[in-house]
Amino acid sequence: MDLPFIDLAAQQARIRGDVDKRIAAVLNHGTYILGPEVKELEAALAERCGATHVISCSSGTDALILALLGLGLRPGQGVIVPSFTFAASAEAMAVLGSLPVFAEVDAATYNLDADGLPAALAAANAQNIEVVGIMCVGLFGQPADITRISAFADTHGLWVLDDAAQSFGGTWKGQQAGTLGRVTATSFFPAKPLGCYGDGGAVLTDDDNIAEIAISCRVHGQGRDKYENERIGMTARLDTIQAAILLSKLSIFDDELAARQQVADRYQSLLGGKITTPPLAQDATSSWAQYVIQLPDGTDRQAVQSRMGAKDIPTAVYYPRPMHTQPPYLRYPVAEGGLSVTERLAGSVLALPMHPYLTPEQQEQVADALMSSL
Ligand SMILES: *Cc1c(COP(=O)(O)O)cnc(C)c1O
Repeated sequence: MDLPFIDLAAQQARIRGDVDKRIAAVLNHGTYILGPEVKELEAALAERCGATHVISCSSGTDALILALLGLGLRPGQGVIVPSFTFAASAEAMAVLGSLPVFAEVDAATYNLDADGLPAALAAANAQNIEVVGIMCVGLFGQPADITRISAFADTHGLWVLDDAAQSFGGTWKGQQAGTLGRVTATSFFPAKPLGCYGDGGAVLTDDDNIAEIAISCRVHGQGRDKYENERIGMTARLDTIQAAILLSKLSIFDDELAARQQVADRYQSLLGGKITTPPLAQDATSSWAQYVIQLPDGTDRQAVQSRMGAKDIPTAVYYPRPMHTQPPYLRYPVAEGGLSVTERLAGSVLALPMHPYLTPEQQEQVADALMSSL
């Protein structure tokens, strides 16, 4: 029996008729760029999250860039960001000529550690870098502790941008990811909890000014008139066909989130006490983009992966190399005292198959294969 790491085929079997109908509707009306489905999706996402503005766009990375443009980030300014994340988080500011300032994460939740923020700020200050904001990341599905991160940000006059590419669908104190920072960026890459059949993303915010800039910058910085350019922008729209697909997936999203929570609960009962499983913070719910355990110190992770692979159990490592150790990022500041938690996690984390359609039997196979491969 095939046990995929992420089962997009099972999901597609469930919605295929609806997806086909919605794609056919786009082919019939022919408005491939910023068509009615794009507006319908943006309204549906705004309604779901309680955000005033949703600006769909071409990828999660472009959503981060549009959000940073909206925040008015300038070259040379610094933004605190975890090093233990997907490259796009830090890349978005680097590509704008500003500076990621790498900060530590919490060993249990994998998310930006509020206690590590002063050391990151101090490292930037020591290099005369003006820090203007914090980008937190809801890694693997659980939002970061926005309560404590925002408190620190407010004290120091910083904004908070939430990278919810993985945590969209998760909540903090009952509030949806998408409304947790001044602005949120998310991704609709196929493997994310809410994914399309190509690249896509969105910016969410209550801030009218950020929204206006993001809307303008996703179409070359255009003003009210099509050929009036108010600023330097990019081409960063979401395709109408992808919006149509997302509308279909959105109709089963809450059901899938509940199923993901059940899968996580079953892993916890199979593995809890035997290995370090991922806990939820008291105030969080997770979209369970990934289920990431930590192997005991000294474990040969590659050997575990190949023994599990021999039993047809796929695994993955997110992320084996922290951003502050990657060659293009070596020149950016790192929190004073270093990032020992980040470095330890990069060497010990292992992601197990995770999707809403995993069966209890399959999860037992995964757990058995894991325990006998250690
Ligand atoms: C996937 C991801 C992104 C980028 O999204 P794309 O749509 O692939 O550009 C950004 N941040 C995090 C944390 C991600 O997981």
